[in-house]
Amino acid sequence: MNQEYEVIIGLEVHAQLSTNTKLFCGCSAAFGAEPNTNICPVCLGHPGALPVLNKKAVDYTVLAGTALNCRINRHSVFARKNYFYPDLPKGYQISQFEEPFCENGFLEINIDGLEKKIGITRIHLEEDAGKSIHDQGWETKLDLNRCGVPLIEIVSEPDLRSAREAYEYMFRLRQIVTYLGVCDGNMEEGSLRCDANVSLRPKGTKTFGTRTEIKNLNSFRHVEKAIEYEIGRQKDILENGGKIIQETLLWDSESGIVNPMRGKEESDDYRYFPDPDLLPVVISDEWHNNIISLMPELPAEKIRRYTLEYILPAYDAEVLTSSRETAEYFEAVIRTTKDYKSASNWIMTEVMRICNETKTSINNFPVNPESLARMINLISDGTISGKIAKDIFPIMVAEGKEPEQIIKEKNLIQISDSNEIERIINSIIEINQSSIEEFRSGKEKLFGFFVGQVMKETGGKANPKVVTEILKKKLSP
Ligand code: ADP
Ligand code: MG
Ligand code: ZN
Repeated sequence: MNQEYEVIIGLEVHAQLSTNTKLFCGCSAAFGAEPNTNICPVCLGHPGALPVLNKKAVDYTVLAGTALNCRINRHSVFARKNYFYPDLPKGYQISQFEEPFCENGFLEINIDGLEKKIGITRIHLEEDAGKSIHDQGWETKLDLNRCGVPLIEIVSEPDLRSAREAYEYMFRLRQIVTYLGVCDGNMEEGSLRCDANVSLRPKGTKTFGTRTEIKNLNSFRHVEKAIEYEIGRQKDILENGGKIIQETLLWDSESGIVNPMRGKEESDDYRYFPDPDLLPVVISDEWHNNIISLMPELPAEKIRRYTLEYILPAYDAEVLTSSRETAEYFEAVIRTTKDYKSASNWIMTEVMRICNETKTSINNFPVNPESLARMINLISDGTISGKIAKDIFPIMVAEGKEPEQIIKEKNLIQISDSNEIERIINSIIEINQSSIEEFRSGKEKLFGFFVGQVMKETGGKANPKVVTEILKKKLSP
């Protein structure tokens, strides 16, 4: 019998908060410092050293929770999660168990035009552990810089049904935390990492199957690939009458397979209890309002606004809002031009292409939004042609010159004066009599040839609309 299975996936995503300092001490939280230089008695767990909560980390957690439609718990508690690991000098991690900051939210994803709400169970704030380095010689080295760096853990409901949905969920999540500025979203540096829980159940049944958890997936591709691999592995086992063991797996991106890491522990094993060194956090109305006032416009709202207010196609709105920086660039351009669609076209093609090719962020793009807008206005008011604009733009990029300056220096102003264009057309007609006869006897393709001749004569500066108009008149028998 060929049993069909339904895939069930829930993701636990750790996002490193972009605070300057760690969660409970004043050490720098920056990535990439010399090993073991950003450490102090608090994050090393020396006796008598006491944690002091970083308020900004709470702001960021609540901001993320609000953007993800969560209920914010105004009374929240930190708990100790007890376990031994060499990169955890205190012997416990300060995390949250009961009463996390955020609960019961959702994130909307879009699969082939269909909206789907993925439930978010909770978002809690916790400190990171240090890092064990196994690949430098025979010994294991420890870097404790990361100890105490603030993370939020975003736990989804088991609502995802395919690797593709998981990918899409991660993508939207990254987009939102980077829009909020609470996380830099850098997956290579580990600022955003994902554990994927995967199980299968026979189609049509209600109870969940036994799940496995794949740890520390640090790119979108890995999330998708590892889940696909794991679905196949579980299917094989089930189809051969085997049983899935609940365990923690590690994705090996080199070989493209998962390896067992350890048996699964239950929360009871960690002996969670409220941290006696930290008071419960009470978020007052005033504090809450201050946090909410930091909320930027999020991508979904921007997409709605771009399509309604600026009448842009959904595709354009999606591309322009892909990052907050791109959206802000676009919005800066349209403060100076009302030609929204042209602004969109220029950004989606030229600007983004050059940014990609030169690996520059749009923030540092050499053409400022206002200059691009003025160039677009020069096209729409007929001063230059679109073709000339395409020639000018690379000069603006390379030399940082303003469009007006380049036009003047290179004498590129479009010729729209019909007398002048007519004069040029007359001279072209004079030396191309045979082509005229061919055209009049039905070879209509030759119209393009005449337009080309005018453009050649004027160095591309003739206004194509005027040229077409006059040519039509002159060529008709
Ligand atoms: P932990 O992994 O820390 O024990 P939970 O039990 O809360 O935590 O579950 C973690 C994640 O596993 C959640 O994202 C949840 O949606 C997901 N999950 C729970 N049960 C299943 C299942 N049977 N199949 C797939 N995912 C599941
Ligand atoms: Mg887990
Ligand atoms: Zn410290």
